[in-house]
Amino acid sequence: MSSTGDGAAVSEELNVLEPSTERVLDTIPRANAGDVDVAVARAVAAFPAWRDFAPARRAGLMREIATAVERELEDLAVLEARNAGKPLADARGEIGMVVETFRYYAGSPERPHGETIPVAGGQAFTVREPLGVVGLITPWNFPLAIAAWKLAPALAAGNTVVLKPAQLTPLTALRFSEIAREAGLPDGVVNVVAGPGGTCGRRLVEHPDVAKIAFTGSTEVGRSIAAEAASTLKRVTLELGGKSAGIVFADADIEAAAAAAPGAVFGNAGQDCCARSRILVEQSALDRFMDLLEPAVKALRVGDPLADGTQMGPLISAGQRDAVAGFVPAGAPIAFRGNVPDGPGYWFAPTVLCPVAPDDRAVREEIFGPVAVVIPFRDEAHAVELANDTIYGLSGSIWTRDGARALRVARAVQTGALSINSNNSVRVSTPFGGFKQSGYGRELGPHALDAYSDVKTIFYSTEGA
Ligand code: NAD
Repeated sequence: MSSTGDGAAVSEELNVLEPSTERVLDTIPRANAGDVDVAVARAVAAFPAWRDFAPARRAGLMREIATAVERELEDLAVLEARNAGKPLADARGEIGMVVETFRYYAGSPERPHGETIPVAGGQAFTVREPLGVVGLITPWNFPLAIAAWKLAPALAAGNTVVLKPAQLTPLTALRFSEIAREAGLPDGVVNVVAGPGGTCGRRLVEHPDVAKIAFTGSTEVGRSIAAEAASTLKRVTLELGGKSAGIVFADADIEAAAAAAPGAVFGNAGQDCCARSRILVEQSALDRFMDLLEPAVKALRVGDPLADGTQMGPLISAGQRDAVAGFVPAGAPIAFRGNVPDGPGYWFAPTVLCPVAPDDRAVREEIFGPVAVVIPFRDEAHAVELANDTIYGLSGSIWTRDGARALRVARAVQTGALSINSNNSVRVSTPFGGFKQSGYGRELGPHALDAYSDVKTIFYSTEGA
């Protein structure tokens, strides 16, 4: 398998591991900075023809890609489940979202995008132009789904792309590029470069022929990308970390809130930027909530990602497991924990901490693993204060039967996507992205297209010649 999907020369090998067995799943060529240059050159060459594709033709091709991915859904889901260590049912949902995302943005090339603006002496109007070559840098937690959030609007807007998936999970992106080409996507429109962030990612960010970087990953790397991109004034969108709060008021359906809480923080083994890893509970409902949460956490089925009924898999790597374990040192205030299988695999038991000191690292930092803190609050104002007491602002949930309060709190909490009496804040058709140090720019929904195009104003004089 070639790293660029096009036979570009690559030098070293990359062993891709399966986190549930710790064994090598595949060995692929490891791309380097030179391969990025080759991929960018191919994307530059492919851009004019792709930009000039008739709208209906581009839309039709995106639908073809969606259908081709749908045909391969099971194989892609198994590959994703094995490589990322996620339950197969989750992986099926994510590949389904890839299909849905391509179908959604296939609607865009044929929709109107400009405005006419009254001016003196002629006619002014705007059109949206693609940016050119866009660099996409993605993380390992939802590998192909997050890539599709970027690929589909970027392609729909007429850009060509170089996608750099996370080194730990490049396999579905490489397979996707083959599927897209077989579906009729012209050579050079999508180029995948599987290599390290420090070389390949960095080269993409500094490359003078790359017009924009769409990045999803840690806040730390996002900060360095924003700084580096400034030297070429690249456009940048950043989807970064989170420390989201699930706020449970005493008047809520406590059974429903407690039943949903494990999925909201232990889904994808907690390696989810939207994880509601701080569970804020109104003091008067705390005991009842904990009584209900404990059996729900203990009942979580943690194990082989490919086995029927598995709800949580291993962490992505030994390094990630060590990092997560650092948040639960000896003597940590463990309220209760779930189970993990014996034997190989980067397992970590779902863990609930309570009571936790407000300055505990587990309260302040993104853990990106199956560790939740439960924190009591006094009243609505205190809940909002605690929810906002973080550098992050990505997601969150509010559980209450009081509709007016739900709306007040939703407006007061500083995050980009919230849900009320639900933990679902990510949909293909609605915008998603962060406030504060969770990043800037929006993916999904109608807004994503704005981030992959620039507005051009044209004035046509109706006077004189
Ligand atoms: P990461 O920041 O380590 O890596 C993300 C990507 O950036 C990878 O492809 C990596 O190779 C690349 N990279 C690393 N260093 C680079 C550099 N100097 N220049 C250019 N590229 C570089 O993140 P991760 O560990 O893969 O993912 C976990 C993080 O992603 C968490 O913080 C999580 O919250 C965040 N995340 C955010 C969202 C969101 O939508 N907001 C979604 C998923 C994950």
